[in-house]
Amino acid sequence: MERRTLLAAAAATPLLAAALPARAHHNEGMAQAPSFYRFKVGSYVVTTVFDGFTPRQNPARSGLIVNQPPEVVEQAMRDALLPLERMDNPFTVTFVDTGRELIAFDTGTGAGQLSPTSGLLGHNLEEAGIDPAKVSKVVISHFHGDHITGLSTRENVPVFANAEVLVPAAEWAFWTDETNSGRVPEFQRGTFANVKRRFAPYQARVRQFAWDSEVAPGVRAVAAAGHTPGHTVFQVASANDQLFIMGDTASRPELFLRNPGWFSMFDLDGPMASETRRRLFGRIAAERARLTAYHFPFPANGYVATWGEGFRFVPADWSSVV
Ligand SMILES: [Zn+2]
Ligand SMILES: [Zn+2]
Repeated sequence: MERRTLLAAAAATPLLAAALPARAHHNEGMAQAPSFYRFKVGSYVVTTVFDGFTPRQNPARSGLIVNQPPEVVEQAMRDALLPLERMDNPFTVTFVDTGRELIAFDTGTGAGQLSPTSGLLGHNLEEAGIDPAKVSKVVISHFHGDHITGLSTRENVPVFANAEVLVPAAEWAFWTDETNSGRVPEFQRGTFANVKRRFAPYQARVRQFAWDSEVAPGVRAVAAAGHTPGHTVFQVASANDQLFIMGDTASRPELFLRNPGWFSMFDLDGPMASETRRRLFGRIAAERARLTAYHFPFPANGYVATWGEGFRFVPADWSSVV
């Protein structure tokens, strides 16, 4: 090696050393492309934004489906070509720009708050060119932690600094009354404290809405109770087009859309959740309407068709970007 090359190498070393921890921190080698998907509903621009996922080990044997034996769940997973040993629960937040308002539907899991593989919303919003400070309304489907924790940071500072927060009245009534804690399974009891904490920084800006009312022009709240007492679906209509934002009416489609009669451990009222699932997906299939759902695989966008005793998910054509 020539002396000049040696000197150059020595000079470069500190830079390289400084760069390495940053690379490791951002995990560049394993990063995905920005995860957002944009399309139009009439004149409204809709963007679904990925917030990451939480893995669940051995879902069929972990009590996820409470009214089926593990063998039946495993067969459904094999039929859907899903691995049996792990199933990811993905999170997708929907943003609707009506031209006058920018509305967020749920909030994600919060950066570094629920699991190491989730909380990507802030990063992906930046890539999508959406500024959380410009969100005028945050509309909440229900109060489970994966839907409201992203309202605020770990230090409980509001993420949507200028937004009004709209909540289903029935959901608010249930989770703000701790005498209801005996009516939920033990693993969901932390929801009462999380509700108190996440809405506190928005106090004066929280507004309750009733089912069948409009939460914004062209956005109607549709009753979808069962998963939780106030669980709500949103119907977005513009021109002759419409989109249903399904929240947790069904989580993974391979299980709960195919088998609407299955109860998830997260459904507070299994029979009611199941009845709601059949009714709403039946309506959407009949109307051939577009939908997005919080736990469908990203970009969580498409249609449903009736299929045997249940439904199948038909992903939207990717060419339908604006
Ligand atoms: Zn939920
Ligand atoms: Zn959820």
